[in-house]
Amino acid sequence: MATYVFGHTTPDSDSIVGAIALAYLKNQLGEECIATRQGDISAETEFILNKFGFEAPELKTSVAGEKVYLVDFSDKAQAPKDIEEATILGIVDHHKLGDLTTDTPLECWIRPIGCSNTVIKEMFDSYGVEIPKNLAGMMMLAILSDTVIFKSPTCTKVDTKAVKELSEICGIEDYKALAMEMFIVKSAVDGASARSLNTRDYKEFEMNGIKVGINQLEMVDITALDNRKAELLEDLKAMKEEKGLHTVLTLLTDIMKEGSTLLCVSDEPQKIEAAFGVKLQNNEAWLEGVMSRKKQVVPVVQPQFK
Ligand code: MG
Ligand code: MG
Ligand code: MG
Repeated sequence: MATYVFGHTTPDSDSIVGAIALAYLKNQLGEECIATRQGDISAETEFILNKFGFEAPELKTSVAGEKVYLVDFSDKAQAPKDIEEATILGIVDHHKLGDLTTDTPLECWIRPIGCSNTVIKEMFDSYGVEIPKNLAGMMMLAILSDTVIFKSPTCTKVDTKAVKELSEICGIEDYKALAMEMFIVKSAVDGASARSLNTRDYKEFEMNGIKVGINQLEMVDITALDNRKAELLEDLKAMKEEKGLHTVLTLLTDIMKEGSTLLCVSDEPQKIEAAFGVKLQNNEAWLEGVMSRKKQVVPVVQPQFK
């Protein structure tokens, strides 16, 4: 029986490429594995798959009775609903440790670095398995996406080294130019509904019994959304009700200006103001230098609910 390998809900490029890369590595090691995904592919991920000639993994949202590897998450809120009826064989991740637990020993590769694909690159090296050219190209772009072309505070020397080595394997010298092309694809907002923008990179967190939703849009120029902020806030209000959230945030991250506009709808907005040391005006504030949800948003918001 095959083991399924997948990333978090609302999959990003790290989740999709990570599932493909880890399944490939495990297959090379003689363990039958199938990469899957929990949701739709983003425009950015589609760009990466097309560039290197890969198909999207199959959709799988129920895993009861299956053996699984998790990539890029360990939070129950980002797992299939029936994850507790699956056997977790391993976790490969670069986030805070989540609330999933196991009944049996597991393989665990969690490191405080910029991307799960960097961890997987280290696994390939550690097992002495060669990375095929096209897979290397996808892993390289996944790392450049998660680290925002090395600008994110999550980026480490391990990530830049991995990108350089992968670029040599795939034969793409000007990887920064290719990454910029990818971010332009990622930045497209024309014709997208407010809801699709508010859920483009959406994650839910349980913070001491309180449900907090945090969405992020990484864009080359966030002024493209200047005249849609009121509409985005209206939709956040609706989302908060529908999903029973205490707080819902959308971060409009400008990767060139290296900061984010925060849109916030909360039962206790003063807690969000305290978390970031800002005053919200019309549910909005500029967060200078804030680019990473996992390193600069979750760690300051979570203590407010202790
Ligand atoms: Mg991710
Ligand atoms: Mg990641
Ligand atoms: Mg990300």
